[in-house]
Amino acid sequence: MKYQYAVIGLGRFGSSLSRELIKLGYEVLGIDKDEAAVDAMEDELTHAVVADSTDDEVLKSLGVRNFDCAVVAIGDDIQASILTAIVLKDLGVKKVVAKALSELHGKVLNKLGVDRIIFPERDMGIRVAHQLVSPNLLDYIELSKDYTIAELSVPKHLCGFSIQQLDPRAKYGCSVVAINKKGGIIIAPSAADVVNENDVMVIIGTNEQVEKFELEVV
Ligand code: ADP
Repeated sequence: MKYQYAVIGLGRFGSSLSRELIKLGYEVLGIDKDEAAVDAMEDELTHAVVADSTDDEVLKSLGVRNFDCAVVAIGDDIQASILTAIVLKDLGVKKVVAKALSELHGKVLNKLGVDRIIFPERDMGIRVAHQLVSPNLLDYIELSKDYTIAELSVPKHLCGFSIQQLDPRAKYGCSVVAINKKGGIIIAPSAADVVNENDVMVIIGTNEQVEKFELEVV
């Protein structure tokens, strides 16, 4: 059986999330109390329903408890977001993910046992700042508070350098874990592997090590 998602709140975040899940081949039930929001998405989603998600009877009758994951994508209405999260946890949904507007909102969701809390605006701000100061940074993942994996596009001036010549471990303390080349990915490259312009280097290290490598090398 396909993994099934319920997305509650079809505003900008919820509609973009549901569209992408559908594109990735998953089934999505979209729920919004606003008929216009549901109308705008109903052709694209597996099902789209007009309902108030703070009403536990409604969520029960929609069978939301049988979904693998429910995402609370309600924006400005913090009260509705919190009440919906409580209803979903009470129904026993396996995985509840919720968008938080502020640190405090995030703390409340955490106390309710929400499995994953997303701060889209805060996280996107941080991401864009990193990309602005380091234009070759394509993407990064914070593994924990201290460790990061970053994807960096290899600039012209590093073209033809081997891992040994770059020597990121000795100079910066971070390691190159993969090089993505047009012809395929080299996992755990050896000292002799060479990078070329537009290859993508994947590096891992502490936030400081990765940042230093981004700024000084790439
Ligand atoms: P975004 O910033 O992602 O656009 P919005 O706050 O604009 O977020 O949109 C959130 C969506 O959640 C809106 O379409 C709104 O109608 C919907 N929504 C808010 N409260 C409820 C609720 N209790 N039940 C169902 N949908 C809700």
